[in-house]
Amino acid sequence: MSDLPLENDYDVAIVGAGATGLTVACAMAMEDLKIICFDKMFGFDGQQKGDTRTIALLQNSIYLLENLGVWDECKPFAEPLNIMKVIDDTGRFPPVPDASFDASELGPDPFGYNIANDRLVSILAEHARNNPKITLLETDHVASIENHAKMAVVTPFEGQPVTALLVVGADGANSLARRAAKITTTDWKYNQTAMACWFSHSLPHNNISTEYHRKSGPLVLVPMRDNKSGLVWVETPDKANHLMALDDTDFKAQLSEATHGELGDLIDLSKRSAFPLSGLVANDFGKGRIVLVGHAAHVLPPIGAQGLNLGLRDAAMIADIACKANIRGMDPGGPEVIAKYDELRRSDILSRTFTVDFLNRSLIHGWFPPLQATRTIGVQLLKLIPPLRKAVMREGIAPQSNLPPSMLSR
Ligand SMILES: Cc1cc2nc3c(=O)[nH]c(=O)nc-3n(C[C@H](O)[C@H](O)[C@H](O)COP(=O)(O)OP(=O)(O)OC[C@H]3O[C@@H](n4cnc5c(N)ncnc54)[C@H](O)[C@@H]3O)c2cc1C
Repeated sequence: MSDLPLENDYDVAIVGAGATGLTVACAMAMEDLKIICFDKMFGFDGQQKGDTRTIALLQNSIYLLENLGVWDECKPFAEPLNIMKVIDDTGRFPPVPDASFDASELGPDPFGYNIANDRLVSILAEHARNNPKITLLETDHVASIENHAKMAVVTPFEGQPVTALLVVGADGANSLARRAAKITTTDWKYNQTAMACWFSHSLPHNNISTEYHRKSGPLVLVPMRDNKSGLVWVETPDKANHLMALDDTDFKAQLSEATHGELGDLIDLSKRSAFPLSGLVANDFGKGRIVLVGHAAHVLPPIGAQGLNLGLRDAAMIADIACKANIRGMDPGGPEVIAKYDELRRSDILSRTFTVDFLNRSLIHGWFPPLQATRTIGVQLLKLIPPLRKAVMREGIAPQSNLPPSMLSR
């Protein structure tokens, strides 16, 4: 018998319905948990709004969406990523050789699939909306979260407070849940802005994702359906402001030059959006009855498609731990759950944050000769030693340990 109070409105309250919050909701609803999720809007109405990001979802994230029964709806909008190329475009000495990673070296599956972020969020929202265990509550914002010994109280800006045993903070980089839990962060800024959009082109992309490493940061082309590609182009803030202000024709001319005409003529161009880059990692991933997932827990520069894939691993892990506790009649927001989540997510989050930060800094501070030489030697070793290359590819997709069962192929 559980010693929990019987009057709680919900087992789990999720603050934020981006991709990570909605994934937590769908994963927890696979078990017998009563869930409420708060955001100002759920999904999108088919009109392209501000979010022009496309997301490269890596293999284990695809397995997760398959296991949640969401992937079949995503797949018609997603394009496989078979080859990843990294090209040194810094012009520095010693030059780093080009590297190409082929998913077929690891097995029959592609590295992952690329999909528009707003499409993914919309499909997850629809799935959550159709699940009777999930309540979606539209509110301008959650105004307060209180951590109590036996429950948490979540109060939406315009509505009545609700109680829950566990609060999942999926409310992005400026997380209220993180502040409510009194979790401190280590954070920093980069003198960089990422521009994101997509475009169609005359030459085929051949399912190759290309990452140009440039002095100002990476420029990444990721294949999309219908011979389109997603673009993430990182520049200094001044250069990004200049590029954002160009009309489409001039922007395409600059893009074509930066990508050496690799995709032929650039045709239709979507809206562009700009994201000032920063880094953040929470010093704890759970406290009291609150855990953090996704951008609320960690923010990384867009290199190597790590951000949301890391966030989906948070989502799958808290769902796994809380559901197992609930099945055993334990408190899904109790101290054992919070401590276990913090312990199991720590090394993945910290190692990814360190690696992505190092890669980004090695580009912008590459004038430091030992750093450039280290990159050159590292890539040579990857080219020459297939087992090392395979190990790096596997680790790049996901850590090889501590993945919850929902992220494994069935
Ligand atoms: C240019 C760019 C390209 C990227 N490409 C990739 C990629 O290829 N692969 C990859 O894995 N990652 C990528 N990322 C990272 C990825 O976009 C993020 O990791 C991901 O979007 C974070 O999702 P989230 O759900 O944690 O947060 P968010 O998407 O920020 O969602 C947070 C949600 O919380 C809501 N919210 C906030 N405050 C409150 C409140 N008080 N009350 C209620 N709701 C609230 C917001 O409305 C929002 O809906 C990229 C990032 C950028 C900038």
